[in-house]
Amino acid sequence: RAKSAGGNRYEIADPEADARTITRYGLTTALPTALAREEFFIEYQPLVNLADGSVRGAEALVRWSHPQHGTLSPDRFIPLAEHTGLIVPLGRWVLDQAVRQAREWEERHADAGPLRINVNLSPHQLHYPGLVSDTVEILQRSGLSPGSLCLEVTESALIGADDDLLKPLRRLAEMGVDIALDDFGTGYSNLANLRRLPVSVLKLDRSFTQGMQRFPVDPVDLRIVEGIVGLAHSLDLSVTVEGVETGAQADQLRELGCDTAQGWYYARPGPPDRLHELALVDAVG
Ligand code: C2E
Ligand code: MG
Ligand code: MG
Ligand code: MG
Repeated sequence: RAKSAGGNRYEIADPEADARTITRYGLTTALPTALAREEFFIEYQPLVNLADGSVRGAEALVRWSHPQHGTLSPDRFIPLAEHTGLIVPLGRWVLDQAVRQAREWEERHADAGPLRINVNLSPHQLHYPGLVSDTVEILQRSGLSPGSLCLEVTESALIGADDDLLKPLRRLAEMGVDIALDDFGTGYSNLANLRRLPVSVLKLDRSFTQGMQRFPVDPVDLRIVEGIVGLAHSLDLSVTVEGVETGAQADQLRELGCDTAQGWYYARPGPPDRLHELALVDAVG
């Protein structure tokens, strides 16, 4: 939409679309200040062992507590941060917060077994040359062992990735950091390609889990998930499923051999103390 030269007026053809544009523009320009003022916060969603229901760790999910618009979900602002490059300092902030939180959990209940922390990486961060050194520094500062960190990268970010792009992920994997392929099944990647990637976890996209909610479940859907799980296991990858909303889905996915689950059936994303409580109850009871 053309902004009139020199002025501040907008030509409004489609008022709704324009409101969206202005909001996008407004949010984009507000991002740097928001980061400086730490208007972001992180919610943690448990990752649960499907076999026994125990809490294994959590995924860190960032939110923006916007002074005018209230709490904004990452889908509203991560793409904007990605577009402007602000995702690099924002991603570093998330990683730092999440890793320190994980270390705190570890210290608060050492007897409950290690809690792992999953942090999302955007494609832009993969191209940022300081990714490995930042991660090493953040881990060292916190005292968290690399084996307790899992970085989630979407399948689409790695499609057609050349060796230069994979190198930093390989270095992190060699240090013991787990790499998960997020939203798997949405990116049309070549399955044979999986062998090339330094990943140890496959996160099956929510769309597969949704298929498990229909009754009766389409047998073809079942065979597809069964096939993916079989392939993943044969490549020594563990399988996490996202978006588990019912007990029936959990049962089905357990039967299909999935290892870890995440979803509203277990818990919605919440504050760090919530996760601590869930993990503790779990360890005691
Ligand atoms: P994701 O990594 O695939 O995260 C899972 C999303 O599914 C989260 O949405 C979570 O709240 C939602 N979810 C979990 N369980 C259920 C369920 O049972 N049913 C339904 N319907 N949804 C469920 P959220 O928090 O809105 O995050 C959306 C996306 O934003 C994430 O998708 C991730 O790609 C991105 N994101 C979040 N935090 C960060 C971050 O710190 N950095 C980057 N680069 N991306 C992030
Ligand atoms: Mg994720
Ligand atoms: Mg995901
Ligand atoms: Mg997803």
